[in-house]
Amino acid sequence: SDSHFPVPISPSHVDYSVHYPQLCLSSDSINSKKVEFADIGCGFGGLLISLATLFPETLMIGMELRDKVTEYVKERIVALRKANPGRYQNVSVVRTNSMKYIPNYFQKGQLSKMFFLFPDPHFKEKNHRRRVISPHLLDEYAYALRVGGIIYTITDVEELGEWMNSCLDGHPMFEALTQEELDADPVVNLLSSATEEGQKVSRNGGQTFQAIYRRITPLS
Ligand code: SAM
Repeated sequence: SDSHFPVPISPSHVDYSVHYPQLCLSSDSINSKKVEFADIGCGFGGLLISLATLFPETLMIGMELRDKVTEYVKERIVALRKANPGRYQNVSVVRTNSMKYIPNYFQKGQLSKMFFLFPDPHFKEKNHRRRVISPHLLDEYAYALRVGGIIYTITDVEELGEWMNSCLDGHPMFEALTQEELDADPVVNLLSSATEEGQKVSRNGGQTFQAIYRRITPLS
């Protein structure tokens, strides 16, 4: 339960020296640099590991509720750092309940990318309030994302895909990327190819449904 992990009382209370120790030691750039990518419900961390080398200058973090899965990702990062000196210093993971604590971790406009990849579907209507994409939670994500920042969602559950798309479509602070923009974004292919869930779905020949939106300033 939540009582087993610490929660920072505000974003300025997050101790980044724990997450990015080498960056904290080697320069003071960490003081000006902030985490920009958040992978929510990161699972085993496949996406983050790919992003870490694709965006070596960007700090990124996974948020994961399950203790053992979080520990696995931590160990995975430690091993990669050992085997590849100087690399993977920009990636970390934290155990937390993202549905409650995103505002404790990120300041207004801090993030440039948020990922919600293959989230739990919570099929029953009475459980829709547990879905990680909802009109209410999108308000929080819009707050944490900078204008121009991008929210990536993907699922193999068609009904959930429609739900995430309609929540984003109905929100005044998000607009869908055009097909051209999707084609030009190298991250889009990773949603399936780099995540453990996405790989499972492709092995089984399953379909996926994605909704990728940009944070905008609403017209007044
Ligand atoms: N994104 C990964 C992927 O695509 O391979 C993992 C997908 S997995 C089906 C969903 C993950 O979300 C699980 O690891 C689960 O523990 C995590 N999760 C569910 N609810 C969460 C919450 N409230 N906060 C953080 N993580 C959560």
